[in-house]
Amino acid sequence: AADTLAAIDSKDKKTNAFITVAPEVAEKQAAAADEKGIGAADTLAGIPIALKDNIITNGVKTTAASKILNNFIPVYDATVATRLQQAGAVLVGKTNLDEFAMGSSTENSHYGNTHNAWALDRVPGGSSGGSAAAVAAGEVVAALGSDTGGSIRQPAAFNGIFGIKPTYGRVSRWGLIAFGSSLDQIGVLTRRVKDSAIVLQQIAGHDDNDDTSLPDPVPDYLAALDGNIKGMRIAIPEEYLGEGVAQGVRDVIEKAVDTLKKLGATVDTVSLPHTKYAVPTYYLIASSEASSNLQRFDGIRYGYRAEDVKNLEDVYVRSRSEGFGDEVKRRIMLGTFSLSAGFYDAYFNKAAKVRHLIQDDFTNVFADYDLIVGPTTPTPAFKIGEKVDDPVTMYMNDILTIPANLAGIPAASVPAGLVDGLPVGLQLMAKPLGEATIFKTADAFE
Ligand code: GLN
Repeated sequence: AADTLAAIDSKDKKTNAFITVAPEVAEKQAAAADEKGIGAADTLAGIPIALKDNIITNGVKTTAASKILNNFIPVYDATVATRLQQAGAVLVGKTNLDEFAMGSSTENSHYGNTHNAWALDRVPGGSSGGSAAAVAAGEVVAALGSDTGGSIRQPAAFNGIFGIKPTYGRVSRWGLIAFGSSLDQIGVLTRRVKDSAIVLQQIAGHDDNDDTSLPDPVPDYLAALDGNIKGMRIAIPEEYLGEGVAQGVRDVIEKAVDTLKKLGATVDTVSLPHTKYAVPTYYLIASSEASSNLQRFDGIRYGYRAEDVKNLEDVYVRSRSEGFGDEVKRRIMLGTFSLSAGFYDAYFNKAAKVRHLIQDDFTNVFADYDLIVGPTTPTPAFKIGEKVDDPVTMYMNDILTIPANLAGIPAASVPAGLVDGLPVGLQLMAKPLGEATIFKTADAFE
């Protein structure tokens, strides 16, 4: 832990991957791990890990990168934090993100933007940009992120590391500050596939505190890493190699497909015909759920409260107006509109129906295939500032990652190569609870 804190100290000046570094907590947890001893069950004993700052940590400031939570110190741990401690891991700090996980570049943070670990003038992706940059820069071996529409996979791709969003409900969301509750899922970012398998093993599994957590037993992920993908049936959707995808990215993915074939997999082109509706569907559903989830930030219960207020209404209006950033306000307005009487059927309800069509696309392909692959993002990391003033272009950047969240299926990004010196990710999607298939293939590929 001491080496890790030193690494953070020097490297974070460049990346700004952390919002909070917690040396006292790290020391305490390291001592507790020492006391337990490095036993066979404690596969993470003494391993320093960072958590995205929308994951609640007892006694450690948790901001969700928002001004509205600038003074929030939780009094309990998220289930994932508890499970990591039980496995002997050591929390070293909380990583930067887009405010309330809304964004694709970590530029929507109240605490300054994070820099890509490969090229400091580029974005690290988002919203788990801090977690990805911290791992890629060698500040920590593993970090947790959350993925509502790509927020683990896209930053993993932009920083040349591995990131996995498990099946919806595989990891407890208890203590994750909610954004889009039907889409949110906690996952892992590491350099090596094997390390993610070890961490997911510890945090996955049913939790009584989360009604949406799945009861299914957690398989032995490490046992799946046998390097053998002979006979694996892989599909590549034609919609994922369309015009919007940069030629350099397509070239890297074509080479990756050749590698998978050489390893013994069969690869066919398929169609996911409703892909083009994924972005509008997602922004209606995610924003609607966010507008409801963010009602709790009222300036009364916790967090930032405006000063010199006249009455209760004024507390609400001014605390929220001053506490939330522009992107969060955009989503609250869009979501409130889409849920309002008179527009509900035309927007939220319509989006919920289209979501089923997108889910059916996947079910159809998975009837004949074990895995779907394609690029994680249409382009490599873009320049800081390049897209900030154009939310729609920013939203389109998520077109390849959002479908997996709408369908609730597991998906990951594994480094596949470089374009102009910048990393490109190969996305792997499996059927529900198919995490072992993803690990196995990504491990054989990396
Ligand atoms: N970039 C997407 C958004 O802005 C996804 C974010 C996420 O997965 N948390 O909503």
